[in-house]
Amino acid sequence: MTGRSLRLNCREHADIINGVEETLKYYDYAGVIHIHSTNSDGQKDLPDIIEAAHEAGCDYMILTDHDILEALPAEGWYGNTIVLAGEEISVGEGRGHYLAMRLASAVQPHSSPQETINNVRARDGIGFIAHPFYDTTKRWIFGLTPVTWKDWNITGFNGLEIWNYSADWRENFTGLITYPVGLLCPNCFIDGPPAAVLKKWDELLRFRKVTGIGSVDAHGHFYSYMRMFKTLRTHVVLEEALSFQAPFFSKDKNMIYMALEKGNCYFSYDYLANAGGFMYSADNGRRQVIMGDEINITGAGVTLKISSPQPGLLRIIKDSRLVASAAGARTLVEKVTEPGAYRAELLIKNKPWIYSNPIYVSGKSSFAARA
Ligand SMILES: [Zn+2]
Ligand SMILES: [Zn+2]
Repeated sequence: MTGRSLRLNCREHADIINGVEETLKYYDYAGVIHIHSTNSDGQKDLPDIIEAAHEAGCDYMILTDHDILEALPAEGWYGNTIVLAGEEISVGEGRGHYLAMRLASAVQPHSSPQETINNVRARDGIGFIAHPFYDTTKRWIFGLTPVTWKDWNITGFNGLEIWNYSADWRENFTGLITYPVGLLCPNCFIDGPPAAVLKKWDELLRFRKVTGIGSVDAHGHFYSYMRMFKTLRTHVVLEEALSFQAPFFSKDKNMIYMALEKGNCYFSYDYLANAGGFMYSADNGRRQVIMGDEINITGAGVTLKISSPQPGLLRIIKDSRLVASAAGARTLVEKVTEPGAYRAELLIKNKPWIYSNPIYVSGKSSFAARA
């Protein structure tokens, strides 16, 4: 199914997936999202961080310094890594962070949650609610002051940061005595997205499209950037290959952001195993679609299919309920006849590994893009 052997690095370009009955070809690019540099509270300057992403073999990286878009002029191709710049916008007074991308100019911080979302939309940007439902009590660690989203009476956001690697690590860090354990055994501190975030995602998916992403939230504090960039990555799944050439930078950038906007993406803990080549698709007898896409129920129903690059525990979930599962399997095929957002989760070695954006199965009415 996959166009190259499994490896930790994501360089040498996409895993070419012939996942949908061999008729459609997709390209899988792994990247890292949510990165801080010395432009805000990160430990390293841009050239060092870009070098780290390149060394870690990331196809793309998205810098998101706090309340600043300083890195925008640095956007471009650096070898096989495309560097993009967004902004992590502080909302209200400690009311959360909003991860904004595809901005041409910075958005002012400290507006209300809805104003912040609107300001990003007005610039044709896309935005994700950062680290919702994460524990904010451990303020003493490395001087970090975690905040979490507080207001859900909002509309117009594109998605949620479902799994934040740094927040996951920090939540399971119980004291300085455990610090060496966390460094020597990163897995020991990593247990996947909080149940409350997944529950909220499923809840929102009942009414509208919501793209989930995974992020590193890298500051260079307790992990080197390079080490961090080999952990939690968001893979964009594209119909067309990226160019890896400077003259086509704008087109490449646009394709990556379109995939994140639509949800043609999944996120995975690639430190366990490179998820490249994973595919989640659907077929209604007339057409085939992939994660993030919408498909109509025809008389025969819709067939959902998970294809994994490694055997694992595969699950299809709708409304926080298990629709189908298969253990030790590389594929899971399930026919469904009810409308709804069906997302996929994969575990290997009893650890959370891959979370896919849903396939939106529509009946009479279609899903709102972002109500
Ligand atoms: Zn934040
Ligand atoms: Zn951050």
